[in-house]
This record gives sequence, structure tokens and C-alpha cells, in this order.
Amino acid sequence: MNLFDDLPENVCRRNVPLGPLTWFQLGGPADYLIEPQSEAQLAFVVKRCHDSGTPLHVLGLGANLLVSDEGVRGVVLRLTQGDLINTVFEGEHALIGGGCDMTRLVLTCVKRGLAGLEQLAGIPGTVGGGITMNCGGKYGDISSVVVSVRVMGPDGTIRTRPREDFRFSYRHCELNSDIVIGTAFRLQPTDPASLHRRFREIWDYKFNTQPPLGAPSAGCIFRNPVGHSAGQLIDRAGLKGFRLGSAFVSERHANFAMADRGGKAADVRKLIDAIIDRVEQNSGIRLEPEVKIW
Ligand SMILES: Cc1cc2nc3c(=O)[nH]c(=O)nc-3n(C[C@H](O)[C@H](O)[C@H](O)COP(=O)(O)OP(=O)(O)OC[C@H]3O[C@@H](n4cnc5c(N)ncnc54)[C@H](O)[C@@H]3O)c2cc1C
Repeated sequence: MNLFDDLPENVCRRNVPLGPLTWFQLGGPADYLIEPQSEAQLAFVVKRCHDSGTPLHVLGLGANLLVSDEGVRGVVLRLTQGDLINTVFEGEHALIGGGCDMTRLVLTCVKRGLAGLEQLAGIPGTVGGGITMNCGGKYGDISSVVVSVRVMGPDGTIRTRPREDFRFSYRHCELNSDIVIGTAFRLQPTDPASLHRRFREIWDYKFNTQPPLGAPSAGCIFRNPVGHSAGQLIDRAGLKGFRLGSAFVSERHANFAMADRGGKAADVRKLIDAIIDRVEQNSGIRLEPEVKIW
């Protein structure tokens, strides 16, 4: 008998390669990949991991993630089904499941003439990943339209935490081991045509300044140090196009580490370390990865 024998086969699978589930398309298997169909089933899995001391990781769309070639021990959870991807619109409020795809959500809001999330155009991921990372950029961060977040604690209990509780800051929030299972956003009713123009402007900016959205990467690989642009520091260190094995620095945007299809996560790790060293030698500034590494 294994730990999750009592879950249906379509919910719990063993030894599942994670590469195809991440934007980098790299990395080995998870011991267990579990995709609960409801909050109750999620609570059951979370509690069992807690009680048995089994490591638990939550995977969104893997758009800010590098999984090691050896894979991940324990459980990887994906919130892809049932109430975990519900969307409810009530006037200016949107109540959105933690597993929902941000890109689709942004487009739905633009079509409905609800402003606030269009600032995230071109940022791949789930709502849960977006909250965890406080995703955003030059046009604003997701936290600016969050009212509250529904979370599940490590013991499986559900709470609604107000926005202030998370102390959102640059690409960070204080989640404290909770799992994001839903978010309430307050949006601004507005004219859909002008909102669509604004969305295009933001989308075009990303399209014109970054590598193609579908290329294997995790977006910006380093955090911007206070008062500096990580991309400029990497560029000034002469690293645009620099390659180590199957990993390389984008020619288009120096803060994007890219990988060849079929490459190795270990090459990306080596590239990250080499960039940190070379930028420190060149500028005296030590870069910190923004990408999460499993
Ligand atoms: C081409 C490209 C462009 C990008 N541009 C931007 C950009 O402009 N701005 C920006 O901020 N980011 C950008 N990113 C990074 C990425 O899109 C964001 O960080 C996004 O929010 C990640 O969401 P995800 O669901 O894929 O999270 P994942 O990468 O799957 O996970 C990221 C972290 O969040 C945790 N997590 C995920 N879901 C949950 C949950 N439900 N509950 C608790 N923890 C969870 C994971 O455990 C992990 O620690 C870009 C990435 C790519 C590939």
C-alpha cells in the first residue's frame, strides 16, 4: 500500500516527468503528481503530507521555476480541476480559483470591461503563482487589485486572509507556507474598447522587448537589485549570448536565461552561478535569483 492508494488514478500519478509542466521544459519526475478535484480532496492530501512528513510542493504553470534533472521527492500538487479553477464575477468583484490561468483571466476581464488586471498582459502563470510571486512589472503588480486571498494551511484548514496580511512587496509576499486556493480581486468597470487598446499597448511592449513568450525560460531569472536593472548589469558584464552547454543568456533581454529544448537543468544552474560571479566581478553587485529552484 502506498501513501495515496485511496485517491483515484486520474487524481494521483506516480513518477511523472515535470519538464513538460514547466516553461523551461526541463527537469526530472515528481514521486507523486496530485491534481485534486475539490478543496476537500486538496485538504485530504495536504493533511496526509503534513501528518506523514511528506514534502509538498505546489506547481502553477511552472513559469518561474527550474526543476532539477533529478526531479522532486514527495508530492507535487497542481490545482487544475473543480472548485480550484472556479471563476465568479459579481459587479466589480472577481472571485478566482488559485489554479486559474492568468492569461485567460486577463483576457476575460478585458472583454468584460473590468480594468486592473490588464497590467499583467503577457505574464504566464496561475493566479496562485501570481499571488506568491506578486507578479507584475513596469505597469503594476497583481497585489494592487487584490482584496483578499483564500488559503489552505499545512493542516488542511481554510481561511480568508485580507490583502494587508501578505505585506506584498517587489516579487514577494508573506504566504507563510499557505497554499493559495482563491483570490478576490476588485476591478474597475470601464469601456471595453479603450481597455482593449491599453491591453494591446502593454502586450506589445512585452512582445517588443523580450524573447518570444513560448520559448523555454522562466522570465527574468534575477531580481533587480535596488536602484539597478539586473539586465543592464548582465549586459555590461558582456554576457548577452553567453552559453554554457544547453543554457544561454538571451541576446534580446540579458535577464532571460534560456535553454535549448531537450537541455539540462544543471546547465541552467551553472549559467546562473557564472552570471552571478561575472556580474559581481564587473560591478561589485551580487545578483539574487528570482526563479524558484526545486
Ligand atoms: C516568458 C515569461 C515572461 C515573464 N514575465 C514576467 C513579468 O513580466 N513579471 C513577473 O512578475 N513575472 C514574469 N514571469 C514569471 C512568471 O510568469 C510569474 O512569476 C508567474 O506569476 C508564475 O506563476 P506560475 O503559476 O507559473 O508559478 P510557478 O512557476 O509554477 O511557481 C512559482 C512559485 O509559486 C508557488 N506557487 C504556485 N502556485 C501556488 C499556489 N497556488 N499556492 C502557493 N504557492 C504557489 C510555487 O510553489 C513556486 O514557489 C515571466 C515568465 C515567463 C516564462
